[in-house]
Amino acid sequence: MMSWPPVLAALGLPHVWASRRAYTIVDTAFGEGHLFLSVWNAWRRDPQRSRCLHFVGLLPALGDPHALRARLLQTCPAGMESCVQQLVDAWPLNLLGVHRLEFEGLCVTLTVAVGQPSAMLQRLSVRADAVVLPASLSSYPHEEIEVMFGAATKVLLPQGKLVMPWLSASGVPDRLDNRASACWAQGAVHDGVWSHVVQAAPLTSPVQREGHRHAVVVGGGFAGAGVAYALSLRGWTVKILEPSVGQQSTHQRHLAAALTPMLTRDDDIRARLSRAGTLRAHHRWGHLTAEAFEPCGALQLSRTSGRVVDLEDVVSGLKLPEAWAKFVEAKEASAIAGLTLQRGGIHFPMAVRVQPEAFINQLLSGVDISRRAARVDRLLRRGNVWQVLDAAGQVLEEAPIVIVAAAYATQDILSASGLLATEARLRAMHQLGGEITYLPERAISGGPRCIVSGDGYVLPAVSGQCVTGSSYLHGADQVFVTSAGARENMQRTDGLLGSRLVELGFADCALSGWAGWRAVLPGRLPAIAAVDAEQTLWAVAGLASRGLTWSSLAGDLVAATLNGEPLPLETDIIDKISQI
Ligand SMILES: Cc1cc2nc3c(=O)[nH]c(=O)nc-3n(C[C@H](O)[C@H](O)[C@H](O)COP(=O)(O)OP(=O)(O)OC[C@H]3O[C@@H](n4cnc5c(N)ncnc54)[C@H](O)[C@@H]3O)c2cc1C
Repeated sequence: MMSWPPVLAALGLPHVWASRRAYTIVDTAFGEGHLFLSVWNAWRRDPQRSRCLHFVGLLPALGDPHALRARLLQTCPAGMESCVQQLVDAWPLNLLGVHRLEFEGLCVTLTVAVGQPSAMLQRLSVRADAVVLPASLSSYPHEEIEVMFGAATKVLLPQGKLVMPWLSASGVPDRLDNRASACWAQGAVHDGVWSHVVQAAPLTSPVQREGHRHAVVVGGGFAGAGVAYALSLRGWTVKILEPSVGQQSTHQRHLAAALTPMLTRDDDIRARLSRAGTLRAHHRWGHLTAEAFEPCGALQLSRTSGRVVDLEDVVSGLKLPEAWAKFVEAKEASAIAGLTLQRGGIHFPMAVRVQPEAFINQLLSGVDISRRAARVDRLLRRGNVWQVLDAAGQVLEEAPIVIVAAAYATQDILSASGLLATEARLRAMHQLGGEITYLPERAISGGPRCIVSGDGYVLPAVSGQCVTGSSYLHGADQVFVTSAGARENMQRTDGLLGSRLVELGFADCALSGWAGWRAVLPGRLPAIAAVDAEQTLWAVAGLASRGLTWSSLAGDLVAATLNGEPLPLETDIIDKISQI
């Protein structure tokens, strides 16, 4: 194994992190994580270390964790076995995008950006104390060297360090542009490691809140719970204001819902966001009990009418690991679902059945989260805090940070506060009602073992009832469980499972269900956005039909921004969702 101490010395470790809140480093050639393990190991051993260590690693693809473990154990110095094991245990699936791993109770984060490294470096949302350039940079194409230097300088904090390891005199890049050459000339080589302190431009928003960290979250549905939970994990005290608590809560009697990823042939923004959201949900919520969060997998069946897409062709074009998505024929799909299905489709092993009430209650059961029954009308800025007011103008709460996650009402609250520009995206938000129907499992041979979806969905049974849905009600003022909605849902179930519920009269039985609203934004991309330049007020809304897929990511994007952590998402996606 290469000797990493000279790199640590060039970075100025351990002195540079002494007694600091956080130290952040980007490794543009993460490889198998040797530098990360060395830095983490040094951090563990140093009593003067920073409170947090944020490490960002770039690499083109992720290898197999078993082989990685064997190689790391062979090449790492004794004493690092526990770190190696933890890294391998958390090693993500080989999927393009940003993965966030966490260790030491969230004090050490590893953000792994998988993709073409110079492109990923440009898409990182991070302010770093140091960037380590690839040792082999001199062999890179000229344009890529320029891109690397440019992007590295951009993510560095003022006085941040650029470092390149393992140089011999002949290893000095000889094809640098003017800016990179100037930078290079000012650096120095010691023990084979080049390093240079860059006088980067000051930050516009170094958001790192110290002291007592308190936030108010308006709305205690999926989004509010996701945000409150992510903040509480980072030591924040959170108060949730929600008009309908207990028996009247929004998701009361909402028996089950689906958390599923989606694919598109061109791996577009929504597909990438759904991948990031699903992976984050597993990471963040995977420890919840099966009552709340049950990874049961999903089958997205091929359509026979409407917009028919060759799903097999889509999956094979994307070259995805089977643990993420695999095309299966009808026979294999039937074996997975435990029911006879007439057609195949995409199997997503990581899809989850969620029971909303238990899910929200488990997320909000932390000691630092409290709920108060209150309907918020508007917000007012007073000095360093936001006052949260009811319709009578009474101050319900005040806090330095407020997150409005009140679905469609987010629009009214921000508008009544004079905080929504005429051209704001949230002004175009609309409500779409809908209902799900609870079908006795015996009516569909015990129900599927996994989520079966296509035009609608059927979920594995909860207490003998399978959730089927869901209907879409345009232009409604109120939503109820109706026999017309149940019939629609039976038709969908028949279409998916080949059952004959409508014909057998099931649609005419008095079936129970749940009705609710979706808040929908144009393009069906949610808004997860700071409302003010200081990032003290946030909106999380427009989650449409995928609130579960977006909510853990929403929580971590808000909480990571407020904590000054690297963000667990690429900037081109953040740009799309961060406009209110
Ligand atoms: C029939 C149906 C089936 C669905 N199935 C699924 C599914 O299977 N999977 C999935 O991911 N999504 C599903 N959805 C969508 C999902 O319900 C939404 O995406 C999700 O609820 C959005 O989360 P949210 O927190 O933004 O809104 P909500 O969960 O609706 O929470 C918003 C909260 O804000 C509160 N609030 C409103 N006004 C105020 C105010 N003035 N002050 C304070 N609080 C306020 C509300 O009481 C509410 O509790 C379904 C929706 C419907 C209608």
